[in-house]
Amino acid sequence: EAVLATEFPIRRIYCVGRKYRAHTLEMGGNPDRELPFFFQKPADSAIVCNPSSSLSTKVNATVVPYPMATSSLQHEAELVVAIAKDGSRIPTESALDHVYGYSIGCDLTRRDIQAEAKKMGRPWDAAKGFDSSCPLSHIVPKEDVTLNDDTEIQLYVNGTIRQSSELGKMIYSTQEIISHLSQLFHLQKGDLIMTGTPAGVSDLNVGDEVSITCGELPPCEFFVGAQV
Ligand code: MN
Repeated sequence: EAVLATEFPIRRIYCVGRKYRAHTLEMGGNPDRELPFFFQKPADSAIVCNPSSSLSTKVNATVVPYPMATSSLQHEAELVVAIAKDGSRIPTESALDHVYGYSIGCDLTRRDIQAEAKKMGRPWDAAKGFDSSCPLSHIVPKEDVTLNDDTEIQLYVNGTIRQSSELGKMIYSTQEIISHLSQLFHLQKGDLIMTGTPAGVSDLNVGDEVSITCGELPPCEFFVGAQV
């Protein structure tokens, strides 16, 4: 039985940069040389999306407003790991012991602001951590879902596929990400980790219907609403 993300009080939302080889290449990075790096979104940027039937019927569908101050809002479909057990300097071998469950989410990005920040050597907060920047599906306890290297994560906009990858194409595994992150932060119950996006990121427009699927996990589905 899926647990509502609202029943999993969110403490922090950590995000990983450049986690899939093809996306690292499309963003101008070198997948063979770069260690994972991390940034955060505010916990209150999370929007728990209503169950899948709502998009087709448009009844009770989740609406994510198009944010202010951008003309390039982009989607990044990501597997989300929910942490249940505190820890720091966690070895890779025991990293999964700290996992409560999984969800899927969209690391919404104001790409034009991010490009400017990269160019100027400035922080990414305004590009990544804006209001409503983190739509999420419901969280499923790990014992209730099977995810393999060949499980596909896919993102559709208005029914057209934009992103698709096997989870096994991540440069670093979920265990390695948890281990790396826990060398920097004391992970605690309620932390979410967005594990990075595959290639195919692109602009969203007002009125677009976004749907992210990943194996047995409930889909993350929302409409892009009018600009705030
Ligand atoms: Mn991302």
